[in-house]
Amino acid sequence: MILNKFSLGTGDRFAHQAKAQLQACMQALSNGIEVVPVWNKSNREHTIIGSEPTSVRQAADSAVKALNWKLPYFCDADHITLATVDRFLAPCDFFTIDVADFIGQPAETSEVDAFVRRHPELQGSIELAGVDEALEVNAQDLRQAAQKFLAATKKAGEVYRKVLAAKGEGNFIPEISMDETDRAQSPVELLIILAALADEGIPVQTIAPKFSGRFNKGVEYVGNVAQFEREFSLDLAAISYAVKRFGLPQSLKLSVHSGSDKFSIYPAIHTCIKRFNAGVHLKTAGTTWLEELIGMAEADGDGLALAKEIYAEALAHREELCAPYATVIDIDPAKLPSPDEVRVWTAEQYTFALRHVPSNAAYNSSLRQLLHVGFKVAAKMGRRYLDLVEANEIVIAKNVTANLYIRHIAPVFLGFNE
Ligand SMILES: [Zn+2]
Repeated sequence: MILNKFSLGTGDRFAHQAKAQLQACMQALSNGIEVVPVWNKSNREHTIIGSEPTSVRQAADSAVKALNWKLPYFCDADHITLATVDRFLAPCDFFTIDVADFIGQPAETSEVDAFVRRHPELQGSIELAGVDEALEVNAQDLRQAAQKFLAATKKAGEVYRKVLAAKGEGNFIPEISMDETDRAQSPVELLIILAALADEGIPVQTIAPKFSGRFNKGVEYVGNVAQFEREFSLDLAAISYAVKRFGLPQSLKLSVHSGSDKFSIYPAIHTCIKRFNAGVHLKTAGTTWLEELIGMAEADGDGLALAKEIYAEALAHREELCAPYATVIDIDPAKLPSPDEVRVWTAEQYTFALRHVPSNAAYNSSLRQLLHVGFKVAAKMGRRYLDLVEANEIVIAKNVTANLYIRHIAPVFLGFNE
């Protein structure tokens, strides 16, 4: 099983938008580019919503059938660990093995020694094709990186072998994620991590490092775009070196987590993947749930009323909702409008505040992030929420598809902007 060169991770919190999401990939196809969908939902999201991984599989299968999609598609057990992987084993064929918590845990000295001995090529000046700067690694750098990452790569091996035992060789896509941590990994560290993953025998097809800059949920990138571009191209060069040198799969590529709505870095990503003829996996989970809300508000009447109610509830439970996402959001409470203010908003005022159009003066990134983490409020409403989602399917679907296609697929994979 091989992951296509270009893939889009999409999240569908309430399992109602798979068709609208797939429609965005169909539009890409009709514009000459294959971008395959990967439906992802983490254990954290399943737990908050009270859903099961099989529901993601069912929604994906039925969307694929309804739209007669002939290319591959995948269901991603997103951010799983040894403790949480079990219920994902049957329905999923893509496993994002999250080992971020093991970064920095001490590795055995004998293992560090063995790693350093095994990899003389990782010392000195490493020339990478396609970039004009060599990576400089001295003996101490190599030891330090091994000490920092070997516990994590070893854990990745354990989880991989558990999935392997259940699914069988070649029947799933392994992704390794290290993004949910506080320090970015450098291109040198990425190379060392890839060597260690190869030593573990993991045929990793996508890897999600933490890039420098902030990747907050559902909002714009915060950081130095030029620096990001330099790192991203060094990462791509490190990957193609690792494929040749360590025998990792040809399909190995970078995965950009919390990748939705990072408009300022999309041109850089596009330029780099073109230059290296590389693939990329863009994970965009939460942006669809916000389009569901936008469509609901746009429908006016009961839909707008419910969207306002969700905001008021989210505001009332702000701390509880934000806690699990503290490291990936930046909300300024002073910028959050009061429920009384929002109660008299028109559909246009609501959608202008929420829709991610940075050039619109009414756009409010604090409100957007609060609603991003506020899906638990809608989950608690149960049928009352879902009935309105179903009643307003057309207007919601239009927003879901356009957001994925125009704002994400077009700039990243096709290289054009709105
Ligand atoms: Zn992630």
